[in-house]
Amino acid sequence: MISNAEFRNFGHQFVDWIADYYENIEKYPVKSQVSPGDIFKSLPENPPENSESITEIFKDFQNILIPGVTHWQSPNFFAYFPANSSYPSILAEMLTSSLAAQCMKWETSPAAAELEEKVMNWLKQMLGLPENLFGVIQDTASTATLCAILTAREKFSDFKINESGFDKYENFRIYCSKEAHSSIEKAAKIAGFGSKNLVKIEVDGQCRLIPEILDQTIRDDLKNGLKPICIVAALGSTGTTAIDPLPEIAKICKTYNTWLHIDAAMAGSALILPEYRWMINGIEQADSFVFNPHKWLFTNFDCSAYFVKDKNALIKTFQVIPEYLKTKSDDHVNNYCDWGVPLGRRFRALKLWFVIRNFGIQGLQEKLRTHILLANELAKEIENEKDFELLEPVTINLVCFRYKPKNLNDENALNILNEELLHKINSTGKIYITHTKIHGKYSLRMVIAQTYVQQKHVKNAWELIKDIAVKSEV
Ligand code: PLP
Repeated sequence: MISNAEFRNFGHQFVDWIADYYENIEKYPVKSQVSPGDIFKSLPENPPENSESITEIFKDFQNILIPGVTHWQSPNFFAYFPANSSYPSILAEMLTSSLAAQCMKWETSPAAAELEEKVMNWLKQMLGLPENLFGVIQDTASTATLCAILTAREKFSDFKINESGFDKYENFRIYCSKEAHSSIEKAAKIAGFGSKNLVKIEVDGQCRLIPEILDQTIRDDLKNGLKPICIVAALGSTGTTAIDPLPEIAKICKTYNTWLHIDAAMAGSALILPEYRWMINGIEQADSFVFNPHKWLFTNFDCSAYFVKDKNALIKTFQVIPEYLKTKSDDHVNNYCDWGVPLGRRFRALKLWFVIRNFGIQGLQEKLRTHILLANELAKEIENEKDFELLEPVTINLVCFRYKPKNLNDENALNILNEELLHKINSTGKIYITHTKIHGKYSLRMVIAQTYVQQKHVKNAWELIKDIAVKSEV
């Protein structure tokens, strides 16, 4: 153990290290270049019997662990989806971990509960969400979607499944597009529906759910005695950022009286831009909505913003109050442990508060607009390059494309060529990109959304990709 004086000393050293890390982040290979087992082998078999100094531990952190870290905060990180951090968020996280408060009930930290209510109201205003939604911070979008599906399950079984298990409710059905995130299938499995009762609806040329097919599928299910209870709309699918047509889906939810959950994990942040509000036409019908400030709103993981219309149904689904958790204020306050799965909760509202105040809405909007502009500029470059093909129009900040030399038309060969190209690009350590398949075509994906990304990073990445592609040609 270290003393308070030593803590102060190491604290200063660590902050210096963090500032240096961010200053020099581009010198690290973006994607860790270690092989499976490398890190494990470098660590001792047995835990230490006696105290080791922070200096020693920190040395191993730098020498052993850092080579095995992929640098998500590098401006050359274009993979998967953003997992933004920012300086105000990091500073707030330092305070959160120092307070180390369990923010499960109002009484266990009133400031945490009331700040959470306030910042969730701020987000609601910033995104243009309906007034009648109530916000709560969840750890992840996966958990938020699970909460939505469980609450729908309880609402449509009159809270009987919580009480006595599934019994006669085994015919419940959930719907989402074929491109919707895997967290929906995970939630359907965990909630006891069985993945076969999650119906994945066909998508159009731009990977958006086709409402006519959804409608027909529901009619067929009803004829077969099945009970549709929930439709999940993707506002920004993970593969291509496809935006499902919410107005049509909302109408179908109304017609068949189903729960409407909206998964806007990454793209939801774009709603702070008035020019993207068209994405939520039809939101009045929504029962729940989730987006992740920990993706594209510069707030460290984990911080997922979940909004629900019927908060009483949410609470009734999750609340269990044993004697030792009863408090005097229970009837007058928000006890957020009743609004989701875990009992214990970190003070996550703090980092969101720091971020929103320190960036300001305009600062956040400026960052997002820059990313969107850079993504569109890159898409133009790709369209103008005869040996490359843009595979989807850019909806927000993601560019999907492939290398397609003019003499090569065999789809299988193109898939192999692009997969090899991806590995060659990432093994340079200079940038990190990932892939998806779009209607069977292997697509390279570049997400332009990193907190510190600038035009020069996107330009350099594009030059590198072209250079490696030309050298890979068969
Ligand atoms: N939904 C979508 C559309 C996503 O892109 C992702 C992650 O990429 C998720 C849900 C899951 O997010 P989380 O990691 O917060 O559970």
